[in-house]
Amino acid sequence: MSNCIFCKIVNGEIPAAKVFEDEHVVAFMDISQVTKGHTLVIPKVHKENLYELTPEIAGNIFKAVPAIANALKTEFEPAGLNIVNNNGEQAGQTVFHFHIHLIPRYGKGDGFG
Ligand code: 5GP
Ligand code: ZN
Repeated sequence: MSNCIFCKIVNGEIPAAKVFEDEHVVAFMDISQVTKGHTLVIPKVHKENLYELTPEIAGNIFKAVPAIANALKTEFEPAGLNIVNNNGEQAGQTVFHFHIHLIPRYGKGDGFG
């Protein structure tokens, strides 16, 4: 989608700090780091939200997640990690290209929750 900021990241039209990429999925650092290492995982294909995902697309995303989480664990040594996914404006979605947040956790006062 031409107007979508995450499609632009997929296409290399705007820069992002990528931490993972395969044929179907890209993961990159969130521009506003809620905690250190806050990462977004997206399908390369434009899908607005969870309701639009096919099982295949969902599978491609979640197949990549353990490796990405392990890379974050090695790099940032968090105490834990949350997965967050917002669907719809009322749920806090601000970018309408499906994404999941991987949010490394460092304990009380780490900026999240
Ligand atoms: P949402 O609120 O839709 O669940 O999450 C959207 C996320 O995208 C936000 O955490 C926001 O900081 C991030 N974001 C928005 N624009 C950009 C951008 O241009 N680059 C990167 N890396 N992250 C972005
Ligand atoms: Zn898009």
